Amino acid sequence: MSDRAGARLSERGGFEKASVRDAEIDGRRVLLRADLNVPLEDTAEGRVVGDDTRIRAALPTIELLREGGAAVVLVSHLGRPQGRDPQFSMRPVAERLAELTGAPVTLAPGVIGEPVSELARGLGPGEILVLENSRFEPGETENDPELAAALAGLGDVYVDDAFGAAHRAHASTEGVARLLPAYAGLLLEREVRELTAVRDHPARPLCVVLGGAKVSDKIGVIDRFLEGADSILIGGAMCFSFFSSQGIAVGDSLVEEEGVALAGHVLARAQAADCELLLPIDLVLGRSFDAETEVRELEGVEVPDAWMGLDLGQRTVAAYERVIGDAGTVFWNGPMGAFELEPFAAGTRAVAEAVAAAPAFTVVGGGDSVAALSAFGLADRVDWLSTGGGASLELMEGRGLPGVEALRDA
Ligand code: ADP
Ligand code: MG
Repeated sequence: MSDRAGARLSERGGFEKASVRDAEIDGRRVLLRADLNVPLEDTAEGRVVGDDTRIRAALPTIELLREGGAAVVLVSHLGRPQGRDPQFSMRPVAERLAELTGAPVTLAPGVIGEPVSELARGLGPGEILVLENSRFEPGETENDPELAAALAGLGDVYVDDAFGAAHRAHASTEGVARLLPAYAGLLLEREVRELTAVRDHPARPLCVVLGGAKVSDKIGVIDRFLEGADSILIGGAMCFSFFSSQGIAVGDSLVEEEGVALAGHVLARAQAADCELLLPIDLVLGRSFDAETEVRELEGVEVPDAWMGLDLGQRTVAAYERVIGDAGTVFWNGPMGAFELEPFAAGTRAVAEAVAAAPAFTVVGGGDSVAALSAFGLADRVDWLSTGGGASLELMEGRGLPGVEALRDA
């Protein structure tokens, strides 16, 4: 994160929810919703946290609460368990959190219930109680009012720092926020400020780079930015829905059926819009989605039978690099190709390098795009790395985030 980003932040401001900085927390119990949905790994020592980025991202708010004299009851979801599956226990997260904070950390035996309430009541200032995986309770994703009330009973104050879950109206995000004095955590506040600034007051030209697999996930963003962005660069498998809608052969490339009609509408609207929509002009092909597959370069974009497009070609990369280099603001979501496979990583790597080197204010969101940046060692070269894929897209579309809207107004 550069200083320049911070400076622009204060110039542009505009977050309308009450901040944890203004909450009365001394001697109180704070129910903190964080997004600690981290990848886990099985090792000889048992299950451990594979990548602790999200835990580290929650530390500033946790430390602010502890230093302010609060007892912290921490709740998060972890993966998509079917019921109380011990494979999805928060234990590895609690262990890692204890290492990172040096604080007394206790893992609760469940999400709610009398034994959990008793532990919460006994918690002293600076101590942390980690609740079990919120999705162990079926009421979580249903936003069940009883679960929300039981969670609310565990704290005097609620703080939401789970930006990555803010687009979901769940019991631990939206439901409970309606029942306690509810404040934004530092990370959530920062995420909303940075992304809103890019959406509403970008330094021009604004270049939006979109890739990944599914048009339907990102169509709202494309639609929104046909008015608002100066250029939209399309990469990833998404481009084949666009080509398909134009009657261009796509061979065995990944095409999302639902995406073809959507792409057709976007192309029709793009004609009239003031925004330049760029599609690939050449490709790298493979026989199958496999690192060992036969590889060839393709001039143009008519994909022959029995081949699939898996990366941008060099001329496309050069064109995209130019637009990114000239931008005042870049927002990037979704890899440019099958970057997990080395023969098809070059396009994503080149775009990542162009974004890292750009004089523009640069923001990257999306699980795989952020993973790609980290894999290329470029994660600290962009101005803001969003921890929320779906949430960042919905915010960019201009949709309200239920987890944010439920918080107290500033
Ligand atoms: P993000 O998580 O950054 O939002 P997505 O989940 O939308 O990104 O897309 C990432 C996936 O898209 C990756 O697994 C990548 O392999 C895949 N992908 C990108 N380009 C292609 C392509 N041309 N063909 C098949 N898969 C692709
Ligand atoms: Mg993804």
